[in-house]
Amino acid sequence: MIEVEQLTKRYGSTTAVRDLSFTVRPGHVTGFLGPNGAGKTTTLRMLLGLVEPSGGTAMVSGRSFRRHPRGLRHVGALLDAHDVHGGLSARAHLQALARSNRIPKGRVDEVLAEVGLTGSAARRRVRTFSLGMKQRLGIAVALLGDPPVLMFDEPLNGLDPEGVLWVRGLFRRLAYEGRTVFVSSHLMSEMENTADELIVIGRGELIAAESLVQFAARG
Ligand code: ADP
Ligand code: ADP
Repeated sequence: MIEVEQLTKRYGSTTAVRDLSFTVRPGHVTGFLGPNGAGKTTTLRMLLGLVEPSGGTAMVSGRSFRRHPRGLRHVGALLDAHDVHGGLSARAHLQALARSNRIPKGRVDEVLAEVGLTGSAARRRVRTFSLGMKQRLGIAVALLGDPPVLMFDEPLNGLDPEGVLWVRGLFRRLAYEGRTVFVSSHLMSEMENTADELIVIGRGELIAAESLVQFAARG
């Protein structure tokens, strides 16, 4: 469960997020839709405890990220500019994260297989990865801790058509397992076959929070 209440973030004279309130329920794939610059990434980063709100609260499973001791076992996220040391292999990166988050080592090869980074791909330096492979690695990081809440910032960027189908199936399965799945995009067309619920924002403010079917019927 994700609960955002009267959340605001200002950068100098820019208000990136303004008095935003919404809830994301488990068991659904919820889209986070808005044009570039609408405040999606800033909101996700506040939910992850990477950016401090100017006002309001951003809660995951009833707690702010910083106060939660479990890290990747609490919430997993694919962030747009996911910070991976390019000199490491995908496997070494995941192994380091598993160690610092007290996740069993065996989980690393499980998630590598799940995202399709097997064989030589798992051993290559990340800096040689295509955008699609980086996305797959970012998704592996999100899955690593088997968390109840997952957030994906523009996950379809750089994926080939087969990758897009795979990732949609993955999101549906995660939701079916009862997890909270929150997926950002600037394109309604991407949401149509991906999400069942929508949070729509523009200029940092809430525009709609309803089912995709209801939103699409607005005309
Ligand atoms: P989105 O993810 O929807 O494209 P962002 O959250 O990245 O939107 O950005 C929302 C607004 O906040 C934009 O106007 C952006 O320029 C601004 N912004 C985001 N991060 C920073 C920052 N670190 N410093 C200053 N302005 C920022
Ligand atoms: P390290 O032991 O390498 O410092 P951290 O857990 O601090 O490991 O995070 C390493 C990287 O993972 C950072 O780039 C951070 O932004 C990212 N990160 C941290 N928490 C999460 C999360 N819940 N989901 C996805 N990425 C995360």
